[in-house]
Amino acid sequence: MAQRIAVIPGDGIGKEVMPEGVRALEAAAERFGIEIELTDFDFASCDYYAEHGQMLPDDWFDQLKDFDALFYGAVGWPETVPDHVSLWGSLLQFRRRFDQYVNLRPCRLLPGVKSPLADRQPGDIDFYVVRENTEGEYSSVGGKMFEGTEREVVIQETVMTRHGTDRVLRFAYELARSRPRKKLTSATKSNGIAITMPWWDERVKAMGANYPEVSVDQFHIDILTANFVMHPDWFDVVVASNLFGDILSDLGPACTGTIGVAPSANINPEGTFPSLFEPVHGSAPDIAGKGIANPIGQIWSAAMMLEHLGHQEAADAIVAAFEAVLAEGDRNVLTPDVGGTGTTEGMGRAITERIKG
Ligand code: ATP
Ligand code: MG
Repeated sequence: MAQRIAVIPGDGIGKEVMPEGVRALEAAAERFGIEIELTDFDFASCDYYAEHGQMLPDDWFDQLKDFDALFYGAVGWPETVPDHVSLWGSLLQFRRRFDQYVNLRPCRLLPGVKSPLADRQPGDIDFYVVRENTEGEYSSVGGKMFEGTEREVVIQETVMTRHGTDRVLRFAYELARSRPRKKLTSATKSNGIAITMPWWDERVKAMGANYPEVSVDQFHIDILTANFVMHPDWFDVVVASNLFGDILSDLGPACTGTIGVAPSANINPEGTFPSLFEPVHGSAPDIAGKGIANPIGQIWSAAMMLEHLGHQEAADAIVAAFEAVLAEGDRNVLTPDVGGTGTTEGMGRAITERIKG
């Protein structure tokens, strides 16, 4: 049976990199005999908002829920729709309603890409950030008292549940176990956040009892961020709460050079609902319309999607293809963010040709 994929380009450069992501996906599917069926959607974009006054149609959940995966570009066009409206009205709805409780970001220095960290070579930086994606610090529980007076009080609670914590920890341990180094690092702050974070540490330890082959360490978030910069080679799989993971999953890809190459996955591991795959970058209004956005973030996201759907070989072929194009270093092919003078389409086509083999 064909694997059904919803294609949602979104805004700005999302509309420019998506065709390259689709081209790469189709080439890999054809080469490895994978049947895929793509369906395009124009919603979850600010153009859709301009026409309908909302980011999504009322029945979006029913329209999307039976897909095997969602392939997303980028959302946001602040000139017409404020970012919090476009984001909350689209991506965050998908994450919540489809219970995509794992946010997964590979942080890997690619050949031919210069890390902002001095003297780092491919191989030095190769880890994953696993972020809890549904609860924790982003729970919108709290309130204000005595607003506008000298006695004003503002409270926002962190909500961590055993169910919500254990399931993301399980995912992180499984991922660590599947990798050669089998190493898990937990982001904590149990010296300052004295209730939730010591409990988080306990849950990390308790889950670890099921994974004796995985070695575990933990760092407070402040020194952990410093170590991402000073010792990125220490890390293999890093697991973190929603807020800490948010920070780490931007810092990690930043250490690997251009934001244009970084992919991400929002995963519902049980497959009850579709998972969503998108580049880390946003809609980049500053370069939108110029045809110079790096398509690798979108293309790598396609590889993550194929891996998630069980097609490891096809995923590997996509990764090998963009690594080869980067390593070759032809300035006429590479986009400006990686030192070339090429275009989104030119680089996309060069990668697709390699995928075809
Ligand atoms: P978000 O929409 O996630 O809030 P943002 O709007 O802060 O993100 P981006 O849209 O990702 O940020 O853009 C940040 C910077 O990175 C911009 O200068 C943009 O041009 C650049 N950039 C983003 N994506 C790419 C890409 N694919 N290729 C080249 N440059 C990119
Ligand atoms: Mg943006």
